[in-house]
Amino acid sequence: MRRVLVALVGAQPQNRKLLEDAVIVSQDLLPSAVAELDLDHAKAFATDSGGWTSHTAILARGVGIPAVVGLRDFYRRTKTGDKVIVDSTRNEVILHPSAATLAYYRTETTSRAKRSGTMGLRETGPVSTEDGVEVTLRANVEVPSEFEAVERYGASGVGLYRSEFLLARRGAMVSEDEQRVAYEAIAKVAGEQGAVIRLFDLGGDNLREQFQEPEKNPALGLRAIRFVLRNEVVMRDQVRAILLAAATGSLKIVLPMVADVSDVRRAQAIIQEERANLSGAGRKIGDVKVGAMIEVPSAVFMADKIARIVDFFELGTNDLVQYTLAVDRGNDEVADWFRTLHPAVLHSIDHSLKAARTAGIPSIVCGEMASTPAYVVLLVGLGATDLSMTPSSIPRVRRAIAGIDSENARLIAQECLNCDTADEVENLVRERFIQTWPQLFPPASLPTAKQAK
Ligand code: PEP
Ligand code: MG
Repeated sequence: MRRVLVALVGAQPQNRKLLEDAVIVSQDLLPSAVAELDLDHAKAFATDSGGWTSHTAILARGVGIPAVVGLRDFYRRTKTGDKVIVDSTRNEVILHPSAATLAYYRTETTSRAKRSGTMGLRETGPVSTEDGVEVTLRANVEVPSEFEAVERYGASGVGLYRSEFLLARRGAMVSEDEQRVAYEAIAKVAGEQGAVIRLFDLGGDNLREQFQEPEKNPALGLRAIRFVLRNEVVMRDQVRAILLAAATGSLKIVLPMVADVSDVRRAQAIIQEERANLSGAGRKIGDVKVGAMIEVPSAVFMADKIARIVDFFELGTNDLVQYTLAVDRGNDEVADWFRTLHPAVLHSIDHSLKAARTAGIPSIVCGEMASTPAYVVLLVGLGATDLSMTPSSIPRVRRAIAGIDSENARLIAQECLNCDTADEVENLVRERFIQTWPQLFPPASLPTAKQAK
């Protein structure tokens, strides 16, 4: 309603100011609304809709705000002023907690903050498995409040910059010059290891309300590369801004949600034209490599062909699960079908990584799978050596990789590829991990097949 009123009077959206600390309870919380929130006072989110890979959940993790999503019927039961505890480690919310529960959580939050304050923060750079396979750990970044975390958690640069969040904060298109300044800032934060800027991934659950007419089926609609190819002026502005910013630091471009070789060729032609235009005009530009996100099944099937014409792959595991299994990643009604460890997903990852290796190009695996220690072990087992994740996950992932050997990881991953169902994979992972690395994966740390989604 507020958005409609703002649009009717032609004003720019204003940041919503919270006057005191609050838990934000809502039916649905759009990523654009999260980006606009006053993060000093928003202490936690609890939403009826959403799944663990929906963009609101990703952004909440990125800015370090506890969130429990997919509660279905919580909003209706609450009113402003109610006391609510959001326990994102147990994935629970408690409405009207008793005095004893409140006291317990007060102590728990203080001691947790002390424990995590310095945990694993001193290590930086790549990590090696016990048998010497080196894995690069990069950061996924959405908003400037995450910038300092890149260095704090020892990331090797920025593996995924979700550039569309530039637009979320503004609620409108951003000019070429403003974008250039933003990309220069990212290049600076990323340092020598550089940053991968993803072209605007608009549509789907991502900011569609500001930039597009409603679509009947947005996940399959004018999203990501399709949106920028259709709105060529938008793409050209962004590409120019990246090429110019790359004169000051190391940047790469990644094309989101390409379906096939023709999407890549069309995008590359535009990038090449803009390179030539800028050089022709005597502007200084950087050497920018161009990669493809592999996150839809057709791109997986065509991975060997795509690998021959791009500089690198970036596997988006969130969308790979969504599109391989045809399960909406933001719809809690189908969360039981969102199975990250489905054999079909593992085969897609395996096939894409092999295609990249055969073509001699690197692959970064991003998406929430790369932030989750148990899943990371399987990724390493499938041959992944470059991961990008929410910065605060880096210490946990670093510890997991340092404690495993790649040969055992490979054998377990091969067994998983031979499973018939996601339940079978999850049970197998549980069994093998507890046997092989009991200190690293005590039983309570691994989800049972029923809980794992
Ligand atoms: C993915 O799909 O895994 C990904 C990294 O991109 P996003 O989550 O922004 O769709
Ligand atoms: Mg994606």
